[in-house]
Amino acid sequence: MPGGNGPIAPLDLVAQRQRLAGRVEQAIARVIGHGQFIMGPEVTELEDQLAGYCGARAAVTCASGTDALVLVLMAWGVGPGDAVLVPSFTFAATAEAVALVGATPVFVDIDSADFNVDVASVEGAVRAVETDTDLRPAAVIAVDLFGQPADYAALEKVATGHGLRLLADAAQSFGGRLGDRQVGTFGDATATSFFPTKPLACYGDGGAIFTDDEDLADTLRLLRVHGQDRHRRCVHVGINGRLDTIQAAVLLEKLAIFDEELSARARVAEAYSAALDDVVEVPRRRVDATSAWAQYTVQVDDRDGLVAALASAGISAAVYYRHPLHDHPAYRAFPVAPGGLPVSERAAGRVISLPLHPYLQEEDQTRVIATVRRAVGGG
Ligand SMILES: *Cc1c(COP(=O)(O)O)cnc(C)c1O
Repeated sequence: MPGGNGPIAPLDLVAQRQRLAGRVEQAIARVIGHGQFIMGPEVTELEDQLAGYCGARAAVTCASGTDALVLVLMAWGVGPGDAVLVPSFTFAATAEAVALVGATPVFVDIDSADFNVDVASVEGAVRAVETDTDLRPAAVIAVDLFGQPADYAALEKVATGHGLRLLADAAQSFGGRLGDRQVGTFGDATATSFFPTKPLACYGDGGAIFTDDEDLADTLRLLRVHGQDRHRRCVHVGINGRLDTIQAAVLLEKLAIFDEELSARARVAEAYSAALDDVVEVPRRRVDATSAWAQYTVQVDDRDGLVAALASAGISAAVYYRHPLHDHPAYRAFPVAPGGLPVSERAAGRVISLPLHPYLQEEDQTRVIATVRRAVGGG
């Protein structure tokens, strides 16, 4: 229940559905009617619209954001003996994709200002891989954490200087920009996710890859269908990685209101920052960056105290991420950048994401703000 004293949820699908006034349900019914559940016309239509939206030459949809990362690494032939630099302060899928193709994730640190990869840490790690290991530095995956694009101008320079491919993990940032360049046009390829909590979301799992490299796009289109060409010959070892037609139909309706939703997200973020700047560390924005505001993440010393205070006021806050990946049992054996990852480790103890979605009412924002201020002693 919005407003009043009811619980404040991290996302509000009911409000969005009411706004779409049955259009998503009708779109799903049309797919059920024509019956082309796999690679139906909505998939091609969505790919055209997504490419047009961000200005990439090609958009290739797939089954999830994780598959988007895996498919790109497969298409590049990244595998055993290759090192791929990834931040540790991210969702598991970023490093998981590297390990799944048999390559070695090498964890790098983040910048405390925007939680995105620290370019100096990337350079240090590339040099360490070159001099101290038998691995070949093959690629870097930059993550646009919480919706704000990474520093792609600096990253493109490092990647070119060391002969690395640059893959943007834009699972949280589709809709964001650097200057007037849209997310989807940075690096050699961009992977995004349409998981329900991402800014552009479907009703299940979904993802997409953006690139200006037409050969890469052709290979990705084969890899997502078992590596089969149009004669059903397997020319690559691929996967079942397609986006369902029903999800494409849902996304076409969501894309139509996406810009308005992004503006609404930005308004909530601005209200939070204006009201909380003096009591917590609010997200810092780089001058040229426009965030998609997947999350509004602040840093405080007593994070768990704040989580508890919000919970007892019926406000669900989330912690992304309580442990950096290099600290998880499955990833402990992989190398980290020289000097370790002190910024990632410090952030993991201090971050908390406040409720932010396009339909968060002003009364609810006010309640979140008041609760945070009371909890951290800011009145
Ligand atoms: C959500 C997410 C993914 C994975 O996307 P799925 O669609 O859930 O597979 C990858 N990287 C980051 C940074 C994410 O937030």
